[in-house]
Amino acid sequence: MNVLNVWASTLMQTSFFRLLFVLALSIVVLMQSPIRAAELNPTVFVDIRSINPRIALDIRYGTRNNFVKETLYPQARCILRASTARQLSQVQTDLETRGLGLKVYDCYRPLSVQKRLWQIKPDERYVANPTYGSRHNRGAAVDLTLVDRTGKELPMPTGFDDFTERSSRSYTNLPAQVLKNRQLLEDAMVRAGFIPLSTEWWHFDGKDWQNFSVRDVAFGAIASPPLNNSAPK
Ligand SMILES: [Zn+2]
Repeated sequence: MNVLNVWASTLMQTSFFRLLFVLALSIVVLMQSPIRAAELNPTVFVDIRSINPRIALDIRYGTRNNFVKETLYPQARCILRASTARQLSQVQTDLETRGLGLKVYDCYRPLSVQKRLWQIKPDERYVANPTYGSRHNRGAAVDLTLVDRTGKELPMPTGFDDFTERSSRSYTNLPAQVLKNRQLLEDAMVRAGFIPLSTEWWHFDGKDWQNFSVRDVAFGAIASPPLNNSAPK
């Protein structure tokens, strides 16, 4: 009986310390990894580079290379809700197995920028009315295209923010390779849960976009990777 007691007590102590060790290790990992920390809360805003730095960026509203010819973002960054960023990372990983990747044109767009866009172009065919907001204002939409292994964009129906009928997903008077590329992008995005917008081949909404409200968060308030740098909270 005594021997059994000692044996059971030793086993319990061993299990207890093992559990304690695993718990301590988990806490250290969670505290040190921005990616895992972001996974804890799907609503948090993250910079895509802290989730998947292999995704190429060409953030047009961070430059004058856009349809309003005005720099609207103070920083050319792709900010998204953590859950949308994770979905996007899945697409990148999936595409890499085919020697392809993503290049992102736009992600989160603060509501104040939406208002500025509306001021410049108050036409709902081109710009979402800020009274209701765009899904970009929720941090749950992305505009993007495909690139090859060298970073070169694959031929698509139009450039970004081309508001002609050629941008529509139902437009078919296009070269076979372009149709194939558009479909490839759509299929990869849909596999990860994104919802394509019918009028713009480059636009996709995150599957849970309805869970997120329209926000006006300044880019500077969202940490740049690494998250422990001097970015303001
Ligand atoms: Zn868009």
